[in-house]
Amino acid sequence: MKKLDLLIRGGTLVLEGRIVPGNLGVRDGRIVSVGERDHQPAAHDVFDARGLHVLPGAIDCHVHFRDPGSEYKETWRTGSAAAAAGGVTTVLDMPNTNPPTSDLPGAQAKRQRARAQSVVDWGLYGVLDETSLPHLDALIDSGIVGFKCFMTETTGDLPSPDDGVIFEGFEHLARRGVRCSVHAENAAIMQRRRRSFIAQGRSDPAAHEESRPEVCEIEAVRRTATLASAAGNPVHIAHVSSGGGARAIAEAQRLGLDLTAETCPQYLLFDSSDVARMGGLLRVNPPIRGAGHRDALWAAMHQGVIGMIATDHAPHTWAEKMNPSIWECCRGMIGLESQMAVMLTEVQRGRLSLLDYVRFAATNPAKAWGLYPNKGTIAVGTDADLALVDLDASTHVDQETHHSLNRISPWHGRLITAKPVHTFVRGRLVYTQGRVIGEPGWGREIGRCAP
Ligand SMILES: [Zn+2]
Ligand SMILES: [Zn+2]
Repeated sequence: MKKLDLLIRGGTLVLEGRIVPGNLGVRDGRIVSVGERDHQPAAHDVFDARGLHVLPGAIDCHVHFRDPGSEYKETWRTGSAAAAAGGVTTVLDMPNTNPPTSDLPGAQAKRQRARAQSVVDWGLYGVLDETSLPHLDALIDSGIVGFKCFMTETTGDLPSPDDGVIFEGFEHLARRGVRCSVHAENAAIMQRRRRSFIAQGRSDPAAHEESRPEVCEIEAVRRTATLASAAGNPVHIAHVSSGGGARAIAEAQRLGLDLTAETCPQYLLFDSSDVARMGGLLRVNPPIRGAGHRDALWAAMHQGVIGMIATDHAPHTWAEKMNPSIWECCRGMIGLESQMAVMLTEVQRGRLSLLDYVRFAATNPAKAWGLYPNKGTIAVGTDADLALVDLDASTHVDQETHHSLNRISPWHGRLITAKPVHTFVRGRLVYTQGRVIGEPGWGREIGRCAP
């Protein structure tokens, strides 16, 4: 047998449905053997993984790298370095950049940046709105993984499409079998309430959540489900934030709709009492809500209604996050570098199993976005995208060690009892013990696998 490029030896392998001690053989960027510990074929390099768990690298299906257009917030270089440091080996980037990913030139402009700078693998979403309707086929043929529809306003101020545009877009995506991620919030309810709060002189942190009540999410999820079931396209609900939103998703799934959903660590682990304390740092759309919603989201994950964890990594500067008026604080927060550590800490606390975590963070996103089985699992023939994690750590999230351009994290100071230590992308070590060593440009664009 030809020599391996790399043998990752002595770790505990987290495979689909089972956890076993063993060795991984890698050749040409792919896993070629998953073996017992005493099976040690010859290899050019041997990597000692004793004491570590070997997970498939996380696939974050919701990041905003801001590049091109807002490179003062994040770039492909800094964002992908943050991913590598967080055990994330593939990122799917949202289209609300400048130019937006709404036609082929927009997609190519972003590809040029990503190709030159990314240290992890990446895929792109196209935007679904009035301007992109004539370009959907060109975007799909160019290799994007899916679309994003913003039912309410975005960073970057893309106008939200009306229902006619959404339905026409969904019908088109149904013909091509392409999934659309939806930011599901009713814009009209939210805008009217916000105007009235501002007129009343409110600018406190709680006003943000109260301006976007749960019904905004419920209505928008139901509308998405109604339109998608008529059109016949697969859809995905981004960042589910409420118990009612999760119930509306479950209803649509019971009716047989191909509807997947993600939530984020900030909705699972913060609640409105944290917003009262931390203010603009936790301003995000949809808002972080009361503890009852947080608990309902955990239940929805355990029931399989919400099947993915994404970060909605959304960088802004200090000044943009720390305005005394909640209305002036930019919406969103970073999370790529802390997601795996924070969620594995919840595994340690017994709130989900390690196998659950791998399904939520890697396998299910790979399946939904057409990357499976090349990515999202450890098996012979898959890409050697790996996060080697220490499940016996005891430290704190420290934003000063982050690689994101703007190191302002709501997770700063949080106790973590697990952390990614080494990250491999297609067999290449890109991050090790605090240092990103992957070459900018090592990351490759990944397209959808044939269904
Ligand atoms: Zn969103
Ligand atoms: Zn987002």
